[in-house]
Amino acid sequence: MKFTFLGTGSVKAAPVYGCECSVCQRAMANADFRRHSACGVLEVAGLQILIDAGYQNLEQKCPPGSLDAILLTHFHMDHVQGLFPIRWGTGKTIPVFSPDDPNGCDDLFKYPGIFDFSNKSQPFEAIEFKTISIMPVPLVHSKLTMGYVIAFKGKRLAYLCDSGLLRRDVEQFLIDHPIDVMVLDCDQPPLEKAPRNHNDLTRALDIFEAVQPKQLILTHISHNLDEYFFNYPDILPEGVAIAYDNQSWEL
Ligand SMILES: [Zn+2]
Ligand SMILES: [Zn+2]
Ligand SMILES: [Zn+2]
Repeated sequence: MKFTFLGTGSVKAAPVYGCECSVCQRAMANADFRRHSACGVLEVAGLQILIDAGYQNLEQKCPPGSLDAILLTHFHMDHVQGLFPIRWGTGKTIPVFSPDDPNGCDDLFKYPGIFDFSNKSQPFEAIEFKTISIMPVPLVHSKLTMGYVIAFKGKRLAYLCDSGLLRRDVEQFLIDHPIDVMVLDCDQPPLEKAPRNHNDLTRALDIFEAVQPKQLILTHISHNLDEYFFNYPDILPEGVAIAYDNQSWEL
C-alpha cells in the first residue's frame, strides 16, 4: 500500500487570509508550505482510491479514468469540495463510500454526475472492495463521520479524520487490529481543555499511547499548529510525524 497526501490542512491552514503569523507569511511567499484541504490517494492492489476530496484541482492529480473508488469521511465542505469541479466529467462511474448522512453537501446527491453515492458506510460493517477490506469506524465530530481502516496483505492503514476523542469501541477495535500507519486529525497545539470536534496535540498523543500504531501521522493541520511545530521542531516523540502535502508513505 502507498498513501500520498494531497491535502493536509484544516479550514484554518496556512496561509490564512490576512494572517500575519510567520507560517502564513511563509506559505504566502512559498507555495510549497501551503496546505490544501483533507485529501489523499491510496494505491493498493492495482487500485487507486481517493480518501476524502478536499483538494480542489483533482483533475491535475487524478487523470480521467484513474480512480477506482472514493472514501469520504463526511460531508463537510473541506472534505468534498474537490468533487464539484469533476462531477460533470465523462467516463466510468466512480463508487463513493460515505456515511449515511441524508444532507450530504449542497446538491451532490441530486446531481451526482460521474459519482455513485449509493454505497453507505455503516459503523463496523466491513466493505469488501475487490481484494481489499475496509472497515468504517464511527468518529466523534460535528457531522456524521466515518474513519476507515484499510487492510491488505496483513498491513493496516487507519485514516481517522475529522475526529475528536475516540469512542471506546473504536479505540478497542484499533487495539485488537494492530495498525501500521494511523493518519489522525490533529488540528491544534496543546490546549488546556480537549476540543470537541478535533484533536489537539495532547489528545492526539494520548490516542497514540492508547492504540500504539507503528506510525502516527498527524493531519488536518491549522496555522496555529504549524507555528507551534515551527517553534518546537523536536517536540514529537519517535513514531509520530506531521503530514505534508505531496508526501507519500509506504506500508
Ligand atoms: Zn497564520
Ligand atoms: Zn469536519
Ligand atoms: Zn475538516
